[in-house]
Amino acid sequence: MIKELFPESQPISELRKLIETELPKENLNEGNTLWATSVCSDEVNQSLNQLNDYFKAFGPFIMGGISGIPFAGKTGFKAFASHIPDNGGAVIIYGPHIGITKDGKVGMINRDGQGESSSCCGSLVAGLNSVKTGNVLNISHDDYQQGQVNKILIERYDEIKKADRDIVMATEVAYDQIKRELTDIVAGSLDSLGEKPLLLIGGIIINRDWDQDDLFEVRDVAWYNN
Ligand SMILES: [Zn+2]
Repeated sequence: MIKELFPESQPISELRKLIETELPKENLNEGNTLWATSVCSDEVNQSLNQLNDYFKAFGPFIMGGISGIPFAGKTGFKAFASHIPDNGGAVIIYGPHIGITKDGKVGMINRDGQGESSSCCGSLVAGLNSVKTGNVLNISHDDYQQGQVNKILIERYDEIKKADRDIVMATEVAYDQIKRELTDIVAGSLDSLGEKPLLLIGGIIINRDWDQDDLFEVRDVAWYNN
């Protein structure tokens, strides 16, 4: 199922190799590079934190909220940029996530300690359910991020409902949105980087059951300030 839906997915260790290959192109390395993420808050995405075995400085700076949208915004990015080592650079890993269980349930995973599988990405699944049941836009202070997620799914629901698997299309919609918002934030805040290079790596995190390693399908690799 994973190979069918995400044919380019690879272990997180391959994402590390990509970073190790890219950074030297701009005279960066594990010692002078700060990393950030714009991925969903779900603790399963801590699987990316095996990258901390590579980076020397504490990380990541967290740009993302639920679903992975960079809710930290320009202010968050400027703060991150101001923390980059002197003569160093930065990497941001971004994208949505989707669970696939061993028995092929898409948008679900079995979490450690639970007998039943649960939704993953829970934010996108909840958003889809909300849109399907006709809930209209409601952005409230106590559920602000989910309101924004619902808004994006409403805007592109025509494409989502035509898809074979709506959760897979919702994941693609989330990817497009995260990429667009993050690149807008970066492009609008390049001053805050000074001369420091920034690498953006976008992709889809594929979460698997708790006793299996997660995967990452790289979609975009882009340098800024290089
Ligand atoms: Zn999620």
